[in-house]
Amino acid sequence: MSKPLKVALLGAGVVGSQVARIILEQGDTLESRIGRRLELVGVGVKRLDTERPGIDPALLTTDLEALVSRGDLDVVIELIGGVEPAGALVLKAIEHGASVVSANKALLADELGVLSRAAQEKGVDLYYEAAVAGAIPIIRPLRESLVGDDIIKVMGIVNGTTNFILDKMVTNGVGFDEALAEAQALGFAEADPTADVEGHDAAAKAAILAGLAFHTEVRREEVYCEGITGVTADDIAAAKRLGCTVKLLATASLTDDDSIIVKVHPAMVADKHPLASVSGAYNAIFVNSREAGELMFLGQGAGGSPTASAVMGDVVTVARNRHRGTAGYVGSPYTRRPVAPIAEATAQFHVTFDVVDRPGILARSAAIFGTHDVSLRVVQQTTQPGTGTARLEVMTHATTEASMAAIVAELEGSEFVGAPVRLMRVEGF
Ligand code: NAP
Repeated sequence: MSKPLKVALLGAGVVGSQVARIILEQGDTLESRIGRRLELVGVGVKRLDTERPGIDPALLTTDLEALVSRGDLDVVIELIGGVEPAGALVLKAIEHGASVVSANKALLADELGVLSRAAQEKGVDLYYEAAVAGAIPIIRPLRESLVGDDIIKVMGIVNGTTNFILDKMVTNGVGFDEALAEAQALGFAEADPTADVEGHDAAAKAAILAGLAFHTEVRREEVYCEGITGVTADDIAAAKRLGCTVKLLATASLTDDDSIIVKVHPAMVADKHPLASVSGAYNAIFVNSREAGELMFLGQGAGGSPTASAVMGDVVTVARNRHRGTAGYVGSPYTRRPVAPIAEATAQFHVTFDVVDRPGILARSAAIFGTHDVSLRVVQQTTQPGTGTARLEVMTHATTEASMAAIVAELEGSEFVGAPVRLMRVEGF
């Protein structure tokens, strides 16, 4: 009988505890799928005094460096999160010949290139299905199933917390602060929600998706990032009137000159678009490729068990490879496509601004759009009783961010517009 494959788990929190449970409770099933038994030989944690049901206390250690340096490990599962010390531990595990499974988007968004090259040089696997969109299989489809196709655009809702908050704003008609407080009370948002609400978490995932989709390296700082803290109840109501829903979208797309644009921002998504109906803590990713056309991946984007499912899929895959004495996926040779600045991105925009309520102002406002070659698709003017002003809401045809920024500057500088001009991008209208 072959010897078991030795597995070390780094982290036994929300996800790690569920991964440990599956390895310990499903030993026979996993063995039948891999061809070898998995033996959990160590669990690295921060505190030894925490109750960890099902995990033999003798397996626990706070010396994670020693654990990954044992030299006899087949698989290291990294579930501690954060860039360091996770990055150094993953590199050390690879250096000592272990294959690695990680769910750590923060680390992978910063260091995917370095870690992939280290794994390839050492002939071991690096798998990270759970790093983007929890339980949803999206990494494997991008890097394997669709690798013979040309991807044009990947667009998704990849942060459940912000999706939950925006949903609450839509269904309860409340503002951002109230919706955030409710999300925190229900455990859908952390006490410090910055990474989610400012879009940083989604930007890390967008960098990973963009790199895979376009065979290049994208770092998180190259992702244009706008969170949802500026979204108001008025924006939500305006979207509703147009037959749209506000969502935080992470998008990576190819431009005509073969560079890519990677961005995270709130957008009004037309109700007819499949992403508009993705609600609560669910995630979804919409892929548009040259040959396959449109594909949509939907499921639970977070949570201990759902994320553990994706982690275990990777564990079984890399364990099978170890059993056969091989390494699986080898990354595409990187093409080093340039990441274009946001100014070059194109979008349709919804623009709201207050103007002096006088004859001719609507035409003068429209002329400002016209001088920048931007035509208008929808125009609506509402008198604001007793203020001498009217609110103009327009939706443009597709234009560049640069043209839109110039229009906003000109509107805000004109004597008949009251600043600020509010903008939101529109998708699928
Ligand atoms: P978590 O609940 O905070 O658990 C982190 C675990 O790592 C804990 O067991 C903690 O030890 C341990 N740990 C943290 N820093 C450590 C250090 N410096 N040295 C030793 N041990 C350390 O985190 P999580 O929610 O399970 O997330 C784990 C990873 O999965 C992250 O990369 C996260 O982005 C990713 N992920 C999570 C979800 C989700 O729904 N939670 C979804 C997708 C991806 P103690 O237990 O002693 O504190």
